[in-house]
Parts: sequence; C-alpha cells; structure tokens
Amino acid sequence: MSLPDLGGLVDGLQELMWPTRCVGCELPGELLCDQCRAHLPWIDQQLACPVCGAPFGQLICTECKRDWPVRSCVCALPFSGIGARLVTCLKDGHELRLAPVVAAAMATALDEASAWPAPDGAPRFDTPSIDAICFVPATARAYRRRGFDHMELVARELSWLLSLPLDDALVREEGLDQRILGRGDRELNLRDTIEVASDVSGMDLLLVDDVITTGASMRACSAALLDRGATSVTACALARVW
Ligand SMILES: [Zn+2]
Ligand SMILES: [Zn+2]
Repeated sequence: MSLPDLGGLVDGLQELMWPTRCVGCELPGELLCDQCRAHLPWIDQQLACPVCGAPFGQLICTECKRDWPVRSCVCALPFSGIGARLVTCLKDGHELRLAPVVAAAMATALDEASAWPAPDGAPRFDTPSIDAICFVPATARAYRRRGFDHMELVARELSWLLSLPLDDALVREEGLDQRILGRGDRELNLRDTIEVASDVSGMDLLLVDDVITTGASMRACSAALLDRGATSVTACALARVW
C-alpha cells in the first residue's frame, strides 16, 4: 500500500479554503492572471529618468538631481495599483510564490532599458557587463518579524533568470524603521547601518530592491558597495514612488 501524498493533500485543502487569487483583479486560479499580466502599467523606459528610474524624467527629472551613486536605475512599475499590491502581497501578505513573478517583471524592465543609454553612454543595462546581483537586505527587525527576506528570494529568482551569480554582500544592522522617518532622517539613519560582507572590489554589480521611495536605501547601499571598491552599481526596483 502506498503512503498518501500528505503534502499534496495539504496543498489541496489550502487551495480549497484559501484559493489562489490574482493580485490584480482577485480572480481565483492564478497569482497574476493573463488579463492583468497583459495590462501591467509598465514605466516607459525611453521616457524614464536614467539615474533614478522615475517615470517621465528622461529630460527633466523632478525626483533626483542626477547625483545618485549609480550608473543607472531601472524601475518596472509605478508604486500604485498592481505595482503596490505585488509588493505588499509578497512582503506583508507572505505570498512567497510571487517572488518569481516580481523577478520576471524586473527582468522585463531591464531588457527594455537595455535599448536606452545611461548617462555614461552605455546601455542602462547589459547582462554580460554585470558580475553579480546584490540585494538591499531587510533590517534584522523586519527579518525577525517576517521570517524571510523577500528581496533575497527575488534576487535569487532574478539571478536564475539572467544567469548571473547572486552575491549576498550587504548586511543591514538595526536602525530605526525607515517607514516612520522623513526624507532627511532616512539618510542619517541609514548611513551607518549598512555593511559590506564580501569582497566586491573591481565588480560591476546589479543592486535590486522592491520599491524606491526617496531612494535613500538604494543610494546608501550603492555608496557602501562603491566605498568597498565596486567598479559600478546599476540599480533596479520593481516599483517607483513618484
Ligand atoms: Zn487579474
Ligand atoms: Zn531622476
């Protein structure tokens, strides 16, 4: 007599009680239905700011002074509607099955951005020129609260999609929760909380995060990597607040 497939049974019961629903329209069946997938509100990379990834900032950007310590920044979706729901369902709703969906959206935006120049004249993204993928890590407090680092999961999926190694280089010490701080305080809070735990000297890195709000986390992590000898940092986030 064969043993019953308990894992399958549990999955089946879970699906019966809490059916998988589309993050965009709540239709049961898939995490992101074909209809919502086909109508994602992509940021037009041609029109986006090449330095901070803000939509429509290509010529004049209201969101940065073109002084971020990155060679370019690519954001896939505005942080509203489905862009915001993807992040909150993954991070706060613990829907870890969304990590590959988020990574695929970021890979699509990076591919789109590869057609447009960064300020240095080279493409904003070029897979062969990148040595490794790093991610903006969760704070120790957030990690304890959630039990996982959602950006590690996304970065792992992206590393698989782009065939690039993952370098778990950044460590974030305890700081105040960024969400309760204003723009200036976020910078101060972050400055001393980021450590680089691996040798990144001479490397061209892709640094990923879920959302760029003021860009404080991305800038602080990028500056830390450059301080430790990284040659360049290209940034990518799923969503952009602007
Ligand atoms: Zn849908
Ligand atoms: Zn900008």
